[in-house]
Amino acid sequence: MAGNETGKLPQRIGRIEDVAYNLWWTWNPSARALFKSMDMTLWRETNHNPVRMLGKMRAADLRDRAKDPAFLQAYDSVIAQFEEYTAPDRATWFKRSHPEHQGMIAYYSAEFGVHQSLPIYSGGLGILAGDHCKTASDLGVPLAGVGFMYPEGYVQQRLGIEGWQQNHYERLDRASSPVRPACRPDGSPCVLTLDIGGWHLKIAVWRVQVGRVPLILMDTNVEGNDLRDREVSNRLYGGDRSTRLRQEIVLGMGGLRVLRELGLDIRLFHINEGHAAFMLLERLRELVAQGRSFAEARRVLSGEVVFTTHTPVEAGHDVFEEPLIEEYFKDFWPSLGLDREAFMGLARVPGEDGWNMTALALRLAGRTNGVSRPNGEVCRKMWRKLYEGRPAAEVPITHVTNGVHLPTWVCQSMAEVYDLHLGKDWKERQDDPAMWARIAKVPDEAVWEHHARRKHDLMNFIRSQVRARWMRDRIDPMQVLAHGSMLDPDALTIGFSRRFAPYKRATLILRDLGRLRQLLLDPWRPVQLVFAGKAHPADDGGKKLIQQVYNLAKDPEIGGHIAFVEDYDMHKAHYLVSGVDLWLNNPLAPLEACGTSGQKAAVNGVPNLSILDGWWEEGYNRQNGWAPKATTHLPEGERDDADAQGLYDVLEEQIIPLFYDRGRDGVPHGWVRVMKESIQTVGPVFCSDRMLKDYVAQLYLPGKLARKEATVAA
Ligand SMILES: *Cc1c(COP(=O)(O)O)cnc(C)c1O
Repeated sequence: MAGNETGKLPQRIGRIEDVAYNLWWTWNPSARALFKSMDMTLWRETNHNPVRMLGKMRAADLRDRAKDPAFLQAYDSVIAQFEEYTAPDRATWFKRSHPEHQGMIAYYSAEFGVHQSLPIYSGGLGILAGDHCKTASDLGVPLAGVGFMYPEGYVQQRLGIEGWQQNHYERLDRASSPVRPACRPDGSPCVLTLDIGGWHLKIAVWRVQVGRVPLILMDTNVEGNDLRDREVSNRLYGGDRSTRLRQEIVLGMGGLRVLRELGLDIRLFHINEGHAAFMLLERLRELVAQGRSFAEARRVLSGEVVFTTHTPVEAGHDVFEEPLIEEYFKDFWPSLGLDREAFMGLARVPGEDGWNMTALALRLAGRTNGVSRPNGEVCRKMWRKLYEGRPAAEVPITHVTNGVHLPTWVCQSMAEVYDLHLGKDWKERQDDPAMWARIAKVPDEAVWEHHARRKHDLMNFIRSQVRARWMRDRIDPMQVLAHGSMLDPDALTIGFSRRFAPYKRATLILRDLGRLRQLLLDPWRPVQLVFAGKAHPADDGGKKLIQQVYNLAKDPEIGGHIAFVEDYDMHKAHYLVSGVDLWLNNPLAPLEACGTSGQKAAVNGVPNLSILDGWWEEGYNRQNGWAPKATTHLPEGERDDADAQGLYDVLEEQIIPLFYDRGRDGVPHGWVRVMKESIQTVGPVFCSDRMLKDYVAQLYLPGKLARKEATVAA
């Protein structure tokens, strides 16, 4: 609990608590600086969590701050910005462009990545949801997120000496997190009972404020629920099939009841991936209960729902066995006026068994999209089977390419370069190519100096992580090496950080060790690799890949040229995407839905070396990074080798020579040209303002929502 509740916070600076409880501070540089200036040590110790920091500060220190004129001046300025930003009558982009719009959009997602202090995300899908909410807040799009307040969050990663990922969970200390109970319009805390198929369970509801956008987060760890029910919301992607089903029932059906209970005027639903698709059934039930036939209800529903599908990887789509579905829904389908066959038919894929959540959503949502141009194509091909085998081009799945929230992902020192050279209002004009074109005029030295500083920060950060781990656990000295304590700040540093899902092929670059070793150990032009990423807690395949990287990182011969940074999260991502020299991505095409980490790197002036897939297929222009030759025409078994050789070729022939080609001033001017090109071309297109404006124009706008009957999936 922060200061006010304990009466510790002096009144003069009392509103700092409102800022601490609104994650707006995470993307406002003055607010961040204000917290940091309160107590640098505690700020670090709490992993940049102001709620916890305020709770830990001594009353005497807080009183000192309240008397310090410099602090008060900064405080007043932050509060003024905060009030202006959150003012209900603020003339936001959305208000100006769509003054006629009424009501809210509910955005459902199983994960939300908003800040490292809320571990309710696992990777790109969650970060996308977080960036979507932050952008909605900036642009004034009236949106509310719906998800879970997982008490144990997502897995934390510790690596043993053998490099095996040990799954570690920590209970979230809610009192020192930016989380408050969600209240009904009358001010009472919202707790409700979900009753489905004779299963009763209580749901508590929490609220996290993300600028102007509320996240409504459910939690079943509630007095009155039995142990099994308490565990429903325990962990993100934890538990067995039946827990997963219960979780999704709560997310979808519980989520809608909660929105009603909170009295929000929801006019549109956006479902981020299939996990929340049960909300469609609950909405149908409402519509039928109002007296409509099922067919009418379905038509209305279709006009209210946007569904975004992401992964083409089979395991990414939830399929439940029909008997399990029957257990929960046999008393439910009559309320839709359906029998078992018709009900099960809503989520069946022709020729396959089981209840498929993605099929359910594709059938019932009026508008559906993939998350990059190639992903749109892949999804249309993949789901033709739901549309009577129509040609892929006629399958009604469009695409909106993901973008990243620049105020979150552009590091502070690069933001200062932009402030100076692009104009103070660069964040408001982020989707304007003309504004970004000014980067060409920035002196190379300024860009390079910024990057050198940032790289230095990354190395320091990595060392401080290793030091902390050594102090706490007395890890083996070989692990101190493997975790990156010996990295060379001058060597070409390649970053690879993301979930260790097999299709992302984290170990591809290790495939020809002989060739790689020559690159790493070159005395004049050394290269080093920094890896980070978690495997899903139940994915032994992913854990083996981590182990393979780790064993090389410990190898005395390669010693220090490969590092594995433990426990990847948003905090570490900030350092990595801006502090390495080159961002590597090598998925097995076309399985990367979009891949947003490369966008984060690019807007920080870190060029991409990536296989052509996902967003890079749209973003690559031959001058803003590198792409090895495509190998999609080869048989599957030959592609790993061919792709790996392609990476080494580009590294040897183009990347390494360019990086080490220094002018007399020590600046690699050719390299800086790629950095600038990367900023200039990626900034305006792969920013989240562009993304959200696309969603509004193509998928959200009410007039466009109703889709012709003929295109509704059979
Ligand atoms: C951006 C981000 C991702 C997504 O990375 P991809 O390369 O798109 O898979 C994953 N994890 C974290 C912590 C991120 O910040």
